[in-house]
Amino acid sequence: MANYLKRPQGTEDITPERIRKWYTVEKVTRDVAESFGFSEIRIPTFEQTELFQRSVGETTDVVQKEMYSVIARETKFTLRPEGTAGTIRAMLQNGMLAEALPQKVFYQLSCFRHERPQAGRLREFHQFGVEMAGAASPYADAEVILLGKTVLDRLGIQNIVLNLNSIGCPTCRAAYQQALKAYFEPHKEQLCETCQERLVRNPMRLLDCKSPEDQEIAKDAPVILDYLCDDCKAHFEAVKSHLTSMGVEYVINPKIVRGLDYYTKTVFEFITTSIGAQGTVCAGGRYDGLIEQLGGQSIPALGFGMGLERLILTMEQQELGFMDAKVCDVYFAPMDDAARPTALQYANALREMGVRAEFDLMDRSFKAQMKYANKLGARYLVVLGSNELEQGSGQLKNMITGKQTPVRLDSAEHFAEDYSGISLADLFETES
Ligand code: ATP
Ligand code: MG
Repeated sequence: MANYLKRPQGTEDITPERIRKWYTVEKVTRDVAESFGFSEIRIPTFEQTELFQRSVGETTDVVQKEMYSVIARETKFTLRPEGTAGTIRAMLQNGMLAEALPQKVFYQLSCFRHERPQAGRLREFHQFGVEMAGAASPYADAEVILLGKTVLDRLGIQNIVLNLNSIGCPTCRAAYQQALKAYFEPHKEQLCETCQERLVRNPMRLLDCKSPEDQEIAKDAPVILDYLCDDCKAHFEAVKSHLTSMGVEYVINPKIVRGLDYYTKTVFEFITTSIGAQGTVCAGGRYDGLIEQLGGQSIPALGFGMGLERLILTMEQQELGFMDAKVCDVYFAPMDDAARPTALQYANALREMGVRAEFDLMDRSFKAQMKYANKLGARYLVVLGSNELEQGSGQLKNMITGKQTPVRLDSAEHFAEDYSGISLADLFETES
């Protein structure tokens, strides 16, 4: 075992080799969010612990078991386990909710949860998320769901099912919680310890338990849809009808209650079978009570979080394409020390034009430089030998087609001019 420190369990290094996958999902999620009129927000990595206790909820797995908290100089802080609480806090603190509504924001951020690490379940993971505040209309629900669906479609993801449910409002939930209590009470002894406590404090959380024994007990539990009040029922019907009119397919899944306490009415998850047990790629819903709970006015809101690791896993499983992360357009191969200043100068002239240019920094032999340029995936190669520099001309070699084209090597400007023409012509050729 090599003698260096290892990364903490449940964290990942995103190496340059994998970064293009991240660029792909970051770009697509950003582009889609912006096309729906959402603006980016960036919030702190940690918040006061109380923020998550008040918003995510005391009876959730996240708050009960998964938070990374520290006491620093007598204040309790927690690494954000999700993005909604901090985003709503930021909206309140920056007066955004006093401006024209709805406010629509998105984020790409890391989240921290102390969970048992496994495929698709990390201790530091990343979410793309959107939050919309101010709109009570069922069109807003449909719009947010459509945004998520558009991301998945644009990435080419298949075999992913939109699971839809409504968990009603505090009014209809009161009767439902009673019914759940009555259902689970006789099984109390068989439930896990956490759920025994949930039975008293928040029986709906029982449906969210990950323990297979508890899930078996919950199999025939009453479903919330039978308890919805007229208002919640009408809202749910409207959401479904808007989704249908936009061609978004869904299944109704009454077991979806979401892990977080602040949800009301519509809740949804996009679930795929491509990546095993942790198949929920995107999860969200409406949380009309949250803003008031955090000290603001009563303003309806909704959103979702999409797990970027699970998104990438799904794309890998489905063998989907990722953006190219080309590192090198032109590689200069100086044949001796005398050619090195020229290589540096020419490379810089290209960089000024936004071209990715590199040259040998390792005093490699000609053969070794070729090998390295190939490994880099350089698109073009220019050999700078004493002959070429004396004559003021040489060859631009296209490493993909092998074609060589004469270029001037008497000045960086001339070379850059020739390069532009040739690379543009090549581009047209490969695209046609
Ligand atoms: P799960 O039921 O899988 O534990 P959750 O209900 O805790 O999920 P949310 O809080 O809704 O998840 O987070 C939104 C999304 O973030 C999830 O759907 C998932 O894609 C991703 N996610 C959540 N926890 C993790 C984790 N530990 N590792 C990787 N991705 C995660
Ligand atoms: Mg969880």
